Amino acid sequence: MITLRADLHTHTITSGHAYSTIREMAETAEERGLELIAMTDHAPAMPGSGHTLHFSNLRALPRKIGEVTVLQGVELNVLDMRGKVDLPKELLTRMEWRIASLHDNVLIPQEGRDYTGLYLALAENPQIDMIGHSDSPDYPFDIEAVVPVWAEQGKVVELNEHHVFDISPRHVENARRLAAACARFRATVAVNSDAHTCWNVGKTQRAVAMLNEMGFPEELVLNTSAQKVLDFIKSKKVL
Ligand SMILES: [Zn+2]
Ligand SMILES: [Zn+2]
Repeated sequence: MITLRADLHTHTITSGHAYSTIREMAETAEERGLELIAMTDHAPAMPGSGHTLHFSNLRALPRKIGEVTVLQGVELNVLDMRGKVDLPKELLTRMEWRIASLHDNVLIPQEGRDYTGLYLALAENPQIDMIGHSDSPDYPFDIEAVVPVWAEQGKVVELNEHHVFDISPRHVENARRLAAACARFRATVAVNSDAHTCWNVGKTQRAVAMLNEMGFPEELVLNTSAQKVLDFIKSKKVL
């Protein structure tokens, strides 16, 4: 049975449309038995989100808040079909946890368009650690072609509790197909809350239940311990 100890996708007031401070997020995470959270506020192209300076000054934060390790991260917006993202390379190089996500108010979905090439381009970007909520039916892609490349390039594939289960049954269907492909091609996954308030931090029960029910291999789930997450980051980066 899969039990999670880290939440690798959370938002604070910096995101503009989220409502808790990093202290509230970390304290709630500790109460809920988590060892680590990644603070991944939306990058500047999301309306109302943090300025580049927010991300360049993250080192002002303590490594731990209470007993919870806090990773300095970002949820990048993909800006175009070539996979351009919205923070400068020099800054991304020194950040610890970089999610790349397609958001419909930044990259407007086009009816009938195929996003396979875009997702393959993200696989080639060494400054991306995790592909965020790729279960969206608004951005269809060839899972069979893309997941093996993600696996090969060491990209973590996210299963996002909020995105999969609170939007539509089609998201759930896509997430199942995605998880099955990750198991088959041995791609690492992370199961996250995408919490926009402290009340949702660590809330991943439905996604975990889905993986347990599928018999998903536990060793492919990254966030079952803080140590596993930290070892993964170390193995990828020359810090
Ligand atoms: Zn997102
Ligand atoms: Zn998010």
